[in-house]
Amino acid sequence: MKKRRSSPKNAPAEKPWFLRQKTLEIHGGSIDGDRNLRPGLYRTTAFALGSFERGRRLFAGEERGFIYTRINNPSVDTLERRLATLEKGEACIATSSGMSAVTLIALHLASSRGHIVASNRLYGGVFHLFREELPKLGIHVTLVEKPFDLHAWEKAIRPTTKFLYVETPSNPVIDVFDIAALARIAHEHHIPLVVDSTLSTPALEQPLTKGADIVVHSLSKYMGDGEVIGGALVGTQELMDAVRLSWFRDTGPCISPDNAVVLCYHIESLFARMHEHCENALAVGRYLSRHPKVRKVFYPAFGPDARRNKKLMPAGFGGLMAFEVYGGAKKAKIVLENLKLFWHAPNIGEARSLIIHPATTTHGQLTPKELRHANIPEGMLRLSIGREDPKDLIYDLGQALSKI
Ligand code: PLP
Repeated sequence: MKKRRSSPKNAPAEKPWFLRQKTLEIHGGSIDGDRNLRPGLYRTTAFALGSFERGRRLFAGEERGFIYTRINNPSVDTLERRLATLEKGEACIATSSGMSAVTLIALHLASSRGHIVASNRLYGGVFHLFREELPKLGIHVTLVEKPFDLHAWEKAIRPTTKFLYVETPSNPVIDVFDIAALARIAHEHHIPLVVDSTLSTPALEQPLTKGADIVVHSLSKYMGDGEVIGGALVGTQELMDAVRLSWFRDTGPCISPDNAVVLCYHIESLFARMHEHCENALAVGRYLSRHPKVRKVFYPAFGPDARRNKKLMPAGFGGLMAFEVYGGAKKAKIVLENLKLFWHAPNIGEARSLIIHPATTTHGQLTPKELRHANIPEGMLRLSIGREDPKDLIYDLGQALSKI
């Protein structure tokens, strides 16, 4: 669309000139008829269907309109339009959590004994879903143990493979994957690439612009700023309509309108917050990478792949990082228990900095061998770097590390 500079009128419809990402977090997805400056809260179960014929058409998917909050709702719709715009997708389905979004897309694309090829660098809950639960439904998942090796992905693809799945950056090792290269492999095999973009958010990366077909989010992290649980799928209108009228409608993993409104408010500050998270993580990472008691820092800006990673994610890597102390889990425990400012909590992307020991918590469902293959050592501590002054975070880490 041609760029045009003019002052916005009061009309809230989609603006006729090109809006930048920073503006879209506040205005994205607005449509003719939006009259509320702030997203309205529609706390209701059902909507009037109108005529007998309209009721039939709505239920058959022949007409768009609000039916029942398990299927759609105006507050949720505002969130969905905003997310779709930010991700450069046609449509979105907001869900009750990130896990329900992953489950939904797996059921939709791979039910009837389908096969999935996924990176083994995954959030522990998704890893467990893929390894334990989906196989019970006849959906088998090959976890690629060398996910940086594109041939390993190729080799894992079978005639029954329904999609490729990658989390980038990954939790907790913060591996950055080449979305465009994986999309090429997927498309050569006529299957879609699904990307979990929770840790980057659309402020740092938009996978659909790099060739991915579907984006998955846990909105419980940066988007929700520590206040609500939610998830999302973004993709084509056709796919989102198909999911909404099948597995989504029939299994019910909808988000509440209240949570959708809270998410819209928090998304309005996403870009500024992500910038702070990135800056603070860099400062903490620099400090830890020089600390004599730290064996390794896991953050894409450091190490031999830093240049490659910066090329893949020039806007930054977000606030999640990890580090390994010398001395394994015993020493990691001492550091964790001596921190004064960091909260010991299982979340990512809040204003306050958080710490956790992945091997015994978020990734405790992996076997010791799987932990090794996923590059998660016993002495690793994961940090969700918040938006405090980084000097205070560094001071706290320094005093805790001095105890080992
Ligand atoms: N994807 C990633 C990368 C995550 O870190 C998480 C949770 O930590 C999830 C998905 C699952 O999201 P939720 O907790 O919203 O179900």
